[in-house]
Amino acid sequence: MGSVTNGNAVTETDVVVVGAGFSGLYVVHSLAKLGFNVRAFEKAPDVGGTWYWNRYPGARCDSESLTYCYTFDEQLFKDWVWSERYPSGPEVLKYLRHVADRFNLRRYFQFETAIQSAVYDEAVRRWTITASTGEVLSARFFVTAVGNLSVPATPTVPGIDTFQGQWLHTGRWPLEPIDFTGKRVAVIGTGSSGVQVIQEIAKTADHLTVFQRTPTFTIPLRNLPLDPDVQRLWKSNYRELTKKSRYSDGGLPFFVSEKPLKGVSAEEQKEGLERAWGIGGFRFLFGTFCDIGSDHEANKVAADFVRGKIADIVKDPATRETLTPTAYPLGAKRIPLDTAYFQVYNQDNVSLVNLQVDPISKMTPKGLVAGTTEHEFDLVIFATGFEAITGPLLQMDIVGRGGQKLNDTWADGPYAYMGVGVPGFPNLLTLGGPGGVGVISNVPPTAEQAVEFAAECIAYLRDHQIDEIEATTEATDLWNEHVRAMAQKTMYPYAPSSWYNGSNLGKKPRPFPAYTGGFGKYRRICDAVAAEGYTSFKTHRQGDKEVTGEDNYKAHDPEWYIRVASVPSNAELASWEGRSAMWT
Ligand code: NAP
Repeated sequence: MGSVTNGNAVTETDVVVVGAGFSGLYVVHSLAKLGFNVRAFEKAPDVGGTWYWNRYPGARCDSESLTYCYTFDEQLFKDWVWSERYPSGPEVLKYLRHVADRFNLRRYFQFETAIQSAVYDEAVRRWTITASTGEVLSARFFVTAVGNLSVPATPTVPGIDTFQGQWLHTGRWPLEPIDFTGKRVAVIGTGSSGVQVIQEIAKTADHLTVFQRTPTFTIPLRNLPLDPDVQRLWKSNYRELTKKSRYSDGGLPFFVSEKPLKGVSAEEQKEGLERAWGIGGFRFLFGTFCDIGSDHEANKVAADFVRGKIADIVKDPATRETLTPTAYPLGAKRIPLDTAYFQVYNQDNVSLVNLQVDPISKMTPKGLVAGTTEHEFDLVIFATGFEAITGPLLQMDIVGRGGQKLNDTWADGPYAYMGVGVPGFPNLLTLGGPGGVGVISNVPPTAEQAVEFAAECIAYLRDHQIDEIEATTEATDLWNEHVRAMAQKTMYPYAPSSWYNGSNLGKKPRPFPAYTGGFGKYRRICDAVAAEGYTSFKTHRQGDKEVTGEDNYKAHDPEWYIRVASVPSNAELASWEGRSAMWT
């Protein structure tokens, strides 16, 4: 439907969605199914989100294939055949394209189009949204599905423009493959992207120089072709495993140990860690002992175990020392999974520069200067991460109540309610946003939960003639108090620099931005908020003069969150099948 305001054509729609990754595809599907008019926008030429852009060699997901997919549609889950234990980037992209085709979702999206601004019009309780094409839309709801790691962060290095070779960021890799044969290559950064790309480039580059700021722990991935029997068994237990994921701590249906490391002998500790090391993946953290992530002494035992593995692999003592993390607990930073990361440093064509000793001062036409040495390169790769969490939201000029800009409101870090709402920004739903579990839980089930919460909320508002919903500062303050108290029980606050708290960009660390009580508990809290009729938000009913939700408004103290999250989940488990059927 179109209307004309001040001479400009304005397209009216119920909801505008931004992003075509896991959340964006599913939210468009869900809202359309609920009968809403949806317009969706994506900067990239096609669907895929992070998997569209992160095409660097070696890109692979650290979640196992059978957990890294949608579960809302049983037949989709059963029909899609994964080829490896962990999916490669191209395989995830192929899967998301299949989903878009299967549910005919591309018709809602306008690709190669960015949302430039979204301004809330308080008089009509709608968002006025401007796209990079110049199109202006008026929507009741603005739903962001922009991911947390979608705006690459390239450091400002003086002289970058004078470099005569090529430079790239892992998060914006070109479509054409790059041949490293005969090339002198630099990789800056040793996070998950750096570890993956380093392993690949070391195979063919003439010489690879890795520039490391903070040494990293890694755990073996142990990727394999996926055994067809395992895949069949998993699919035949789809219902049980999906329920388990949905109420698990990390969005994964695996065994979680309840045994404390400190409760067993040193031999049992070693045996448990060794077994998990052999299995590979994040099970090393949660499938071995339950106190590694919360008790510093237990954590040190596990960290020493990993340090021992690095010592076994890396032959040169000086390189080994530079590569060994000693200044922070295991798991305080997101741990990369690797195939043969530390092994590459035994190769003659690989060298390591410690940026803590020799920081990069500039780029030159030939390469870059670190300390007093000029290193010459044909190709420089920045694996330097992202303007995480807030970056993609702040790229759009979002203006809320009273003309307040999200950029100003979040100047010192995100301020948001339960990962979904922002006080002062009514009818804005941020899927996987700050204060939720988006950044620390397996993405697809987390995205499904966020989408279902948002879509059910929007449908509830329509069905109750409510035209405005807004997180309050009271509820947000109490929620954040709870989130911070929970984070203090973990290792996350002890990271020296981390994209979780913005310190990766050299900024002052912010409070840890995610709920660490577990995905299942977070789901239960969200379900309780929905069951109460969203009374912890303020709402406005159509036709009323004032915001009326304040009559119902119920600020939940942190104890409420703990009580609700701890309710036995049997009833919820039983209700899952009916709920899932609703979305199929
Ligand atoms: P990241 O974890 O933030 O790592 C960036 C790396 O670059 C770090 O080693 C960082 O050092 C370094 N760095 C940043 N700025 C620098 C500067 N100015 N000078 C020198 N070094 C600098 O980014 P990422 O590796 O792209 O990964 C981000 C997240 O994306 C991961 O944690 C993960 O959640 C996700 N991811 C997942 C996968 C997967 O599933 N396999 C793959 C890639 C990414 P410091 O450590 O000192 O900050």
